[in-house]
Amino acid sequence: MKKLVGSLKYRNLRYTQNHPLRIPRVSLLIEFLKAMGLIEEQEIIQSREATEEELLLYHTEDYLRALEESDRCMCVKDRYREKYNIGTYENPVSPAMWRGSLLATGSSVQAVEVFLEGGVAFNPAGGMHHAYPSRANGFCFINDPAVSIEFLKKKGFKKILYIDLDAHHCDAIQESYYQDDSVFVLSLHQSPEYAFPFKSGFAHEIGRGRGKGYNMNVPLPKGIKDGEYLYALEESLKIVKEIFSPDVYILQLGTDSLKEDYLSKFELSNAGFLKAFDMVRDMLGEGIYLGGGGYHPIALARAWALIWCRISGREIPSKINSEARQVLLSVNFEEFDEDIDRTYMYDYLLDRSDGEPPRGEVKRLIERLKALFLL
Ligand SMILES: [Zn+2]
Repeated sequence: MKKLVGSLKYRNLRYTQNHPLRIPRVSLLIEFLKAMGLIEEQEIIQSREATEEELLLYHTEDYLRALEESDRCMCVKDRYREKYNIGTYENPVSPAMWRGSLLATGSSVQAVEVFLEGGVAFNPAGGMHHAYPSRANGFCFINDPAVSIEFLKKKGFKKILYIDLDAHHCDAIQESYYQDDSVFVLSLHQSPEYAFPFKSGFAHEIGRGRGKGYNMNVPLPKGIKDGEYLYALEESLKIVKEIFSPDVYILQLGTDSLKEDYLSKFELSNAGFLKAFDMVRDMLGEGIYLGGGGYHPIALARAWALIWCRISGREIPSKINSEARQVLLSVNFEEFDEDIDRTYMYDYLLDRSDGEPPRGEVKRLIERLKALFLL
């Protein structure tokens, strides 16, 4: 049972104009996959909204009521803005805030349920890793990965590995499980020295109390390409496997690590992104797959289409057919840097990968992590 949890409803649950997340994402992916002939209707599980009980596994009731109330009027009280960080430029009031988050979070629970029934599922709307129990943060309102982790705990899982490949550090996830030895958090991301969330995601943050040694950050320099990213991922996974044998893992697949993404300084090709996915699966078996950040809609649709091909066991077609090209061309999105030729994105599905060896800086980081975790 290989399933994509999704819905075309997201089309009408967008962020406000000028927000990086105003773009079509899940609906575009579904339309693109259909046009490419890469998905059958019966492979799609229609997303459902999260229940109150599921939301309360992680979030506070007062925060949920503030989101719900703000959704009703599409407005925000000053005290809510201050207390919950909603109604800001970063986390605006829009249909995405409450309705979209409910759907994305319900979908993550659905993906977990498929996994518990012995199947495999991908929820591309998930992976909103910045939301705190009672505070919006980094475009995220409801933390569906954390709800999923809590859901797994409730189902009796004692050792849960959370792997985050988004270009940004999963600050809220780290904080929530920092003193917890039943959840190992591994995150590869742009160093907070130069990227959001700036305050956390450093290598020395390894957990506290019982959770000490169960939080690994791999903060990487600007301009990371496939070869050194895969080196860092393989080495960090090897360390994790030496100290933690998970019952289950959740993989967050933010596509803002791709070279086309204008909100990050990473330079991965989608072939490198796919190899990262393959590497995790080869080393750990099947997991629960969630989306994440990603602000270039075309890059995102191509990369997640590749992930779906792998999950569903399909051959990867080399060319993008004319119907699918029309789907991509119909997206209302202006290239941030018009000088870069991106026409390849509309012709081919899979990029060429580069095998550049790791820089000394990245090798030294891995040595440091080995010393922190294994000695
Ligand atoms: Zn991100």
